[in-house]
Amino acid sequence: MSKSPNQVLLARAAQLASDFLDGLPERSVGVQADQASLAEALGGGLPEEGRDPLAVLERLVAAVDPGIVASAGPRYFGHVVSGAHPAALAADWLTAAWDQNAVLYATSPANAVIEEVVGRWLADLFGLSGPGRKISVGFVSGCQMAHVTALLAARHHVLMKAGWDVERQGLFGAPRIQVFCGADAHGSVTTALQYIGLGRDHSVIIPGDDQGRMRTDLLAQAIEQGHGPAIICAQAGGVNTGAFDAFSEIADVAQRHGAWLHVDGAFGLWAAVAPDHRYLTAGIARADSWATDGHKWLNVPHDSGIVLTAHPAAHRAAMSVPGEPYLHKTGETYRDPYQWVPEMSRRARAIAIYAALLSFGRDGISALVARCCRLAQRMRDHLVAADGVTILNEVVLNQVLVRIAVPDNEIGDQITDSVIAAIQAEGTCWLGGTTWRGRRALRISICNYRTTEADIDRSAAAILKQIERIVRNR
Ligand SMILES: *Cc1c(COP(=O)(O)O)cnc(C)c1O
Repeated sequence: MSKSPNQVLLARAAQLASDFLDGLPERSVGVQADQASLAEALGGGLPEEGRDPLAVLERLVAAVDPGIVASAGPRYFGHVVSGAHPAALAADWLTAAWDQNAVLYATSPANAVIEEVVGRWLADLFGLSGPGRKISVGFVSGCQMAHVTALLAARHHVLMKAGWDVERQGLFGAPRIQVFCGADAHGSVTTALQYIGLGRDHSVIIPGDDQGRMRTDLLAQAIEQGHGPAIICAQAGGVNTGAFDAFSEIADVAQRHGAWLHVDGAFGLWAAVAPDHRYLTAGIARADSWATDGHKWLNVPHDSGIVLTAHPAAHRAAMSVPGEPYLHKTGETYRDPYQWVPEMSRRARAIAIYAALLSFGRDGISALVARCCRLAQRMRDHLVAADGVTILNEVVLNQVLVRIAVPDNEIGDQITDSVIAAIQAEGTCWLGGTTWRGRRALRISICNYRTTEADIDRSAAAILKQIERIVRNR
């Protein structure tokens, strides 16, 4: 039997994808192309005439290849990046093929049910469920939008208690909301506050300790001095040190003052799944909302953020869409996904998360988290043994902060930056730089399911070689 056009096209796409994935472990992790050559290969005028999908595919792959970063590979330690797990990747392909609109139950009953199931599984995995407690969930593009959604729910909740209906009346003339944020909070929290009209500079910034944990004593003092509606933004897993705020104490403060407690757990929330790391998240279930990612530690392809709240009514009210009778149905009471996110038509994102959760199981996720943390310690142990290398953080999770220390701090900054550039250019592994407590540092983040001990040993050797070379040549 001859093959259908779909079979030919998709088989070719599958082959190209598996060739890429099979080559990933040995593909150089550095950026291979410059912007001008990419623009030349991909640009030019929009063709007048269209072409055959297979020809489009071949041309696309040839042109993009040098501009594809092997960030899904096992030795990419930049940002907080993982690699698409096979089950999640395959489910994501099917999600595109099914092309469901996740807006309503009616447009994709399967997606709506999967969203409910995944929400329940995640609340359970993170230890957020409890008797009589309903956790609401929404599937967004990333943790940034999870913050926006959660903080809109928070805004609704604290203003409603103050007698103000913010969805109808807006913020003009509203009671002033006080926001308390740790000094080492991720920038996406600040951006979310900016988006939702609470202002970037309006928050009370609570200093952190040496690991970047919010000083709870200073939070208690600051909130004591204020009055009115309050929101506290805490952090599970700082992007530099991996540190966790003291949730039990912070939850006490929040409770005393009737404040909404939001947690940024982009990757750190997953520590709750692993028995040896769960202690870091103690008290986290007492928060009011949580933001996390599928595309970091769960190794789901990108475009996968998750918002969870312990206040379904506030969550839903904050996302409410007025009017539009054509969206509203009669009789059914099941979830309509658009009521939990700031989007209408969108991909059925929860399907890939569902596949990843099924594929790993609770034990698999727990083992993945534990392994990445062990690998981070292995990296630390390799590096700390070398002359002039200082590890700046307590490696409690999957983050390692490294500095090349010399007596003169300025020179130390320059050397550290040269080392980062040299490692990136050499291509065995990729890591980025950061500034921690005013000084430059190498930042290593490990959350890819592919990374092995051999990858760590090989990367550490490459890092040490560049350090040795640069320090010697000064
Ligand atoms: C990555 C990250 C974010 C932002 O998440 P996106 O998925 O990129 O939107 C927020 N907080 C922390 C701690 C992160 O690591």
